[in-house]
Amino acid sequence: MIHLSGRRPVSAKASRVFLVSCFLLAVCPVLSMAPPDAAPLKVAATIFPLYDLVRQVAGPSVDVTLLVPPGASPHTFTVRPGTVRALAGCAAVFTIGHGLDTWITRLAREVGISRTIVTDTGIPLRKGAQAHQHTGHTHRAQTASESVDPHYWLTIPNASLMVQTIATALGELDPSAATAYQQRALAYQEQLRGVDADIRRVLADLPRRDIATFHMAFAYFAEAYGLNVVAVFEPAPGKEPSPRYVEAFQRQVRAHKLRVVFVEPQLSETALRGLTKDLGITLRPLNPEGGMPGADSYIALMQYNATQIAAALRE
Ligand SMILES: [Zn+2]
Repeated sequence: MIHLSGRRPVSAKASRVFLVSCFLLAVCPVLSMAPPDAAPLKVAATIFPLYDLVRQVAGPSVDVTLLVPPGASPHTFTVRPGTVRALAGCAAVFTIGHGLDTWITRLAREVGISRTIVTDTGIPLRKGAQAHQHTGHTHRAQTASESVDPHYWLTIPNASLMVQTIATALGELDPSAATAYQQRALAYQEQLRGVDADIRRVLADLPRRDIATFHMAFAYFAEAYGLNVVAVFEPAPGKEPSPRYVEAFQRQVRAHKLRVVFVEPQLSETALRGLTKDLGITLRPLNPEGGMPGADSYIALMQYNATQIAAALRE
């Protein structure tokens, strides 16, 4: 009998099988796919781009929680009760390290999380993040590693290395799914290679390649994609620069004939706004952390920044 349309009648045999299955699922959870008491693996990540990379590798069966909410800067972030609550039940925390989110190391220890995973394995780290000595809050641990620029997630090749670190760590936390994590990582890395090529195309053949950013977040990006960061407005993110520093910044902007200075949604641009007329510049946003419309995935964030820079350098 062939049914060309309409609802397919369920045979007596099929409905019997269905009923038996329901019964088994209800009374014998042991026979269902997952053991009844196995809570899903839960992990946390400090900032949005890292959170998205973990999410991509982890897949739907892992509970991934984000600690620094979108719109907040990791440089000025203060731990709140919600941060501690979000960490409940986490087996590990993924971090950037190098002074960006160092607060997590102590906090994780305090709430009993034994694994804090810095995702920089294999990444050639840049020196010179003098700019990161200040944060809105103070934690002792920040002195040891502040000479490294922590914004390494802002190149696609580095993200690909981070994905490998994440897959390995998740496989150690949940060996039964290790192969699935590796497969997901490989598929995502393939996708990243395509995005890298797109970004290189977007940033090719620009009439200018000098940029001024709000804080020193885009040095890795600039190096990877052939741009020059010639001026930075806030040497310490979240802290208004000194008048002397602002003068030096203005000189750089004029010397390089910049028409655009990039601001960031996570840091207040008020101090810079007063200079725009004098310098004849416009402000355009770049986004180091994302997690908001237009930059709601790691890939979207990278594409957004490349597009913003290309548009600005064509102005
Ligand atoms: Zn930063």
